[in-house]
Amino acid sequence: MHDSHTLHNSQSKNLLQNLRILLWDIDGTLMRSTVQGGYKKYFSRTLQKVFGSAGNLDDLVPSGMTDTQIMYEALKSEGLTPERIFERKEELLEVFKTEMATVLAENGEPYEKLAGADEILAATDENPNFVNALLTGNLSVAAQAKLQSIDLWKYFDGAPNAFGEVSHRRNDLATEAGKLFNEKYDFDFKPEQFIVIGDTPNDIACARHFGAKCVAVLTGKNQTREKLAECQPDALIEDLTDTEKLLEIFARL
Ligand SMILES: [Mg+2]
Repeated sequence: MHDSHTLHNSQSKNLLQNLRILLWDIDGTLMRSTVQGGYKKYFSRTLQKVFGSAGNLDDLVPSGMTDTQIMYEALKSEGLTPERIFERKEELLEVFKTEMATVLAENGEPYEKLAGADEILAATDENPNFVNALLTGNLSVAAQAKLQSIDLWKYFDGAPNAFGEVSHRRNDLATEAGKLFNEKYDFDFKPEQFIVIGDTPNDIACARHFGAKCVAVLTGKNQTREKLAECQPDALIEDLTDTEKLLEIFARL
Protein backbone atom coordinates (compact mmCIF):
# COMPACT_ATOMS: atom_id res chain seq x y z
CA MET A 1 0.00 0.00 0.00
CA HIS A 2 1.27 3.43 -0.92
CA ASP A 3 0.38 6.68 0.65
CA SER A 4 0.35 9.52 -1.82
CA HIS A 5 3.75 10.79 -0.70
CA THR A 6 5.49 7.44 -1.33
CA LEU A 7 3.71 7.08 -4.63
CA HIS A 8 4.82 10.52 -5.66
CA ASN A 9 8.41 9.75 -4.68
CA SER A 10 8.59 6.45 -6.52
CA GLN A 11 7.05 8.05 -9.59
CA SER A 12 9.54 10.87 -9.61
CA LYS A 13 12.43 8.50 -8.94
CA ASN A 14 11.33 6.44 -11.91
CA LEU A 15 11.12 9.56 -14.05
CA LEU A 16 14.60 10.69 -13.00
CA GLN A 17 16.08 7.25 -13.65
CA ASN A 18 14.75 7.37 -17.19
CA LEU A 19 15.39 11.01 -17.87
CA ARG A 20 17.58 11.85 -20.86
CA ILE A 21 19.59 14.99 -20.27
CA LEU A 22 20.41 16.83 -23.48
CA LEU A 23 23.56 18.95 -23.27
CA TRP A 24 23.69 21.34 -26.20
CA ASP A 25 26.70 22.98 -27.75
CA ILE A 26 25.95 26.43 -29.20
CA ASP A 27 28.20 27.46 -32.10
CA GLY A 28 27.82 25.25 -35.15
CA THR A 29 25.10 23.22 -33.43
CA LEU A 30 22.20 25.54 -32.51
CA MET A 31 23.37 28.65 -34.38
CA ARG A 32 26.13 30.19 -36.39
CA SER A 33 27.60 33.60 -36.88
CA THR A 34 27.19 35.04 -40.35
CA VAL A 35 30.30 37.22 -39.97
CA GLN A 36 33.56 35.34 -40.39
CA GLY A 37 35.76 35.98 -37.37
CA GLY A 38 33.49 38.72 -36.00
CA TYR A 39 33.99 37.44 -32.45
CA LYS A 40 37.69 38.30 -32.66
CA LYS A 41 36.95 41.99 -32.23
CA TYR A 42 35.43 41.65 -28.77
CA PHE A 43 37.85 38.93 -27.72
CA SER A 44 40.73 41.16 -28.73
CA ARG A 45 39.39 44.22 -26.89
CA THR A 46 38.70 42.15 -23.76
CA LEU A 47 42.18 40.62 -23.72
CA GLN A 48 43.79 44.02 -24.26
CA LYS A 49 41.79 45.59 -21.45
CA VAL A 50 42.29 42.80 -18.93
CA PHE A 51 45.76 41.48 -19.82
CA GLY A 52 47.25 44.30 -21.94
CA SER A 53 47.60 42.23 -25.12
CA ALA A 54 45.59 40.06 -27.50
CA GLY A 55 48.63 37.89 -28.24
CA ASN A 56 48.28 35.74 -31.33
CA LEU A 57 44.48 35.69 -31.26
CA ASP A 58 44.36 36.45 -34.99
CA ASP A 59 46.12 33.21 -35.87
CA LEU A 60 43.88 30.88 -33.85
CA VAL A 61 41.32 28.46 -35.29
CA PRO A 62 39.06 28.17 -32.27
CA SER A 63 36.44 25.58 -33.36
CA GLY A 64 35.58 23.42 -30.36
CA MET A 65 37.69 25.49 -27.94
CA THR A 66 36.21 27.02 -24.82
CA ASP A 67 36.34 30.82 -24.60
CA THR A 68 38.85 30.64 -21.76
CA GLN A 69 40.93 28.20 -23.80
CA ILE A 70 40.97 30.71 -26.69
CA MET A 71 42.23 33.36 -24.25
CA TYR A 72 44.88 31.03 -22.90
CA GLU A 73 46.04 29.88 -26.35
CA ALA A 74 46.24 33.49 -27.55
CA LEU A 75 48.40 34.60 -24.65
CA LYS A 76 50.34 31.57 -23.43
CA SER A 77 53.41 32.59 -25.44
CA GLU A 78 53.33 35.82 -23.44
CA GLY A 79 53.27 33.88 -20.18
CA LEU A 80 49.55 33.82 -19.37
CA THR A 81 48.53 30.80 -17.28
CA PRO A 82 45.03 29.30 -16.82
CA GLU A 83 45.33 30.20 -13.13
CA ARG A 84 45.68 33.88 -13.94
CA ILE A 85 42.67 33.73 -16.25
CA PHE A 86 40.46 32.19 -13.59
CA GLU A 87 41.73 34.53 -10.88
CA ARG A 88 40.32 37.38 -12.95
CA LYS A 89 37.17 35.60 -14.03
CA GLU A 90 34.71 38.16 -12.68
CA GLU A 91 36.51 41.04 -14.36
CA LEU A 92 36.81 39.07 -17.60
CA LEU A 93 33.09 38.32 -17.67
CA GLU A 94 32.20 41.93 -17.07
CA VAL A 95 34.59 43.36 -19.67
CA PHE A 96 33.67 40.65 -22.18
CA LYS A 97 29.97 41.36 -21.79
CA THR A 98 30.49 45.09 -22.33
CA GLU A 99 32.87 44.69 -25.28
CA MET A 100 30.63 42.13 -26.94
CA ALA A 101 27.62 44.43 -26.62
CA THR A 102 29.66 47.35 -28.00
CA VAL A 103 30.91 45.42 -31.02
CA LEU A 104 27.42 44.07 -31.72
CA ALA A 105 25.98 47.59 -31.53
CA GLU A 106 28.74 49.06 -33.71
CA ASN A 107 28.76 46.67 -36.60
CA GLY A 108 26.84 43.67 -35.49
CA GLU A 109 27.73 40.03 -35.48
CA PRO A 110 24.47 38.65 -36.76
CA TYR A 111 23.65 35.19 -35.53
CA GLU A 112 21.34 32.78 -37.23
CA LYS A 113 19.50 29.86 -35.77
CA LEU A 114 20.36 26.62 -37.49
CA ALA A 115 17.42 24.89 -39.17
CA GLY A 116 15.39 22.71 -36.82
CA ALA A 117 17.00 24.02 -33.61
CA ASP A 118 13.87 25.77 -32.39
CA GLU A 119 11.65 22.79 -33.23
CA ILE A 120 13.72 20.14 -31.44
CA LEU A 121 14.19 22.36 -28.38
CA ALA A 122 10.45 23.05 -28.23
CA ALA A 123 9.65 19.34 -28.61
CA THR A 124 12.09 18.19 -25.92
CA ASP A 125 11.15 21.09 -23.66
CA GLU A 126 7.56 19.89 -23.42
CA ASN A 127 8.44 16.19 -23.18
CA PRO A 128 8.87 14.98 -19.55
CA ASN A 129 11.42 12.36 -20.67
CA PHE A 130 13.91 15.04 -21.65
CA VAL A 131 15.57 18.04 -20.12
CA ASN A 132 17.70 20.59 -21.98
CA ALA A 133 20.81 22.40 -20.78
CA LEU A 134 23.88 23.98 -22.33
CA LEU A 135 27.33 22.47 -22.41
CA THR A 136 29.21 25.23 -24.13
CA GLY A 137 32.68 26.66 -24.29
CA ASN A 138 31.05 30.09 -24.45
CA LEU A 139 31.32 32.32 -21.41
CA SER A 140 27.88 32.57 -19.78
CA VAL A 141 27.58 36.22 -20.82
CA ALA A 142 28.29 35.33 -24.46
CA ALA A 143 25.97 32.33 -24.51
CA GLN A 144 23.13 34.39 -23.12
CA ALA A 145 23.67 37.32 -25.53
CA LYS A 146 23.86 35.03 -28.57
CA LEU A 147 20.88 32.87 -27.67
CA GLN A 148 18.74 35.84 -26.67
CA SER A 149 19.38 37.42 -30.06
CA ILE A 150 17.87 34.39 -31.81
CA ASP A 151 15.19 33.73 -29.18
CA LEU A 152 16.55 30.39 -27.96
CA TRP A 153 17.63 31.51 -24.47
CA LYS A 154 14.13 30.75 -23.17
CA TYR A 155 14.94 27.01 -23.33
CA PHE A 156 18.01 27.36 -21.10
CA ASP A 157 17.22 30.21 -18.74
CA GLY A 158 17.73 28.85 -15.21
CA ALA A 159 18.87 25.40 -16.41
CA PRO A 160 22.00 23.78 -14.87
CA ASN A 161 24.17 24.99 -17.76
CA ALA A 162 27.94 24.41 -17.97
CA PHE A 163 29.79 27.42 -19.42
CA GLY A 164 33.31 28.24 -20.60
CA GLU A 165 34.31 30.05 -17.43
CA VAL A 166 34.28 26.75 -15.51
CA SER A 167 37.47 25.54 -17.19
CA HIS A 168 39.68 26.09 -20.22
CA ARG A 169 39.39 22.33 -20.85
CA ARG A 170 36.17 21.33 -22.52
CA ASN A 171 36.36 17.88 -20.95
CA ASP A 172 35.86 19.42 -17.52
CA LEU A 173 32.56 20.93 -18.62
CA ALA A 174 30.70 17.62 -18.87
CA THR A 175 31.81 16.67 -15.38
CA GLU A 176 30.57 20.05 -14.20
CA ALA A 177 27.23 19.51 -15.96
CA GLY A 178 26.85 16.18 -14.16
CA LYS A 179 27.56 17.81 -10.83
CA LEU A 180 25.11 20.64 -11.46
CA PHE A 181 22.33 18.22 -12.42
CA ASN A 182 22.89 15.99 -9.41
CA GLU A 183 22.71 19.04 -7.15
CA LYS A 184 19.64 20.54 -8.79
CA TYR A 185 17.62 17.31 -8.76
CA ASP A 186 19.19 15.83 -5.62
CA PHE A 187 19.68 12.63 -7.60
CA ASP A 188 22.65 10.58 -8.74
CA PHE A 189 22.31 10.58 -12.54
CA LYS A 190 24.28 8.02 -14.50
CA PRO A 191 26.71 9.50 -17.05
CA GLU A 192 25.01 7.58 -19.85
CA GLN A 193 21.76 9.48 -19.18
CA PHE A 194 23.50 12.54 -20.59
CA ILE A 195 23.64 13.15 -24.34
CA VAL A 196 26.06 15.74 -25.67
CA ILE A 197 25.00 17.30 -28.97
CA GLY A 198 27.83 19.08 -30.77
CA ASP A 199 29.59 19.74 -34.05
CA THR A 200 33.29 19.09 -33.34
CA PRO A 201 35.61 16.24 -32.31
CA ASN A 202 36.07 18.12 -29.02
CA ASP A 203 32.37 17.70 -28.22
CA ILE A 204 32.63 13.96 -28.80
CA ALA A 205 35.82 13.70 -26.73
CA CYS A 206 34.15 15.64 -23.94
CA ALA A 207 31.15 13.28 -23.93
CA ARG A 208 33.42 10.23 -23.87
CA HIS A 209 35.55 11.65 -21.08
CA PHE A 210 32.46 11.84 -18.88
CA GLY A 211 30.84 8.62 -20.11
CA ALA A 212 27.97 10.43 -21.82
CA LYS A 213 26.41 9.60 -25.18
CA CYS A 214 27.07 11.85 -28.11
CA VAL A 215 25.19 13.02 -31.17
CA ALA A 216 27.40 14.78 -33.70
CA VAL A 217 25.82 17.19 -36.15
CA LEU A 218 27.38 18.17 -39.47
CA THR A 219 26.54 21.87 -39.41
CA GLY A 220 29.83 23.13 -37.97
CA LYS A 221 32.50 25.12 -39.75
CA ASN A 222 35.69 23.32 -40.77
CA GLN A 223 34.23 19.87 -40.10
CA THR A 224 33.80 16.91 -42.40
CA ARG A 225 31.76 13.74 -42.11
CA GLU A 226 34.97 11.69 -42.21
CA LYS A 227 36.59 13.64 -39.41
CA LEU A 228 33.56 13.35 -37.10
CA ALA A 229 32.86 9.70 -38.01
CA GLU A 230 36.42 8.82 -37.00
CA CYS A 231 35.60 10.01 -33.46
CA GLN A 232 32.74 7.48 -33.36
CA PRO A 233 29.80 9.46 -32.01
CA ASP A 234 26.72 7.38 -31.11
CA ALA A 235 24.87 9.09 -33.93
CA LEU A 236 26.02 11.35 -36.74
CA ILE A 237 23.34 13.51 -38.30
CA GLU A 238 23.27 16.00 -41.15
CA ASP A 239 21.39 18.73 -39.24
CA LEU A 240 18.57 19.21 -36.70
CA THR A 241 15.71 19.39 -39.18
CA ASP A 242 14.12 15.97 -38.61
CA THR A 243 12.55 16.47 -35.18
CA GLU A 244 10.85 13.05 -35.05
CA LYS A 245 14.01 11.18 -35.98
CA LEU A 246 16.01 13.15 -33.43
CA LEU A 247 13.51 12.36 -30.67
CA GLU A 248 13.83 8.71 -31.62
CA ILE A 249 17.63 8.86 -31.45
CA PHE A 250 17.59 10.63 -28.08
CA ALA A 251 15.13 8.05 -26.68
CA ARG A 252 17.13 5.10 -28.03
CA LEU A 253 20.59 6.17 -26.81
MG1 LIG B 1 30.43 24.05 -31.62
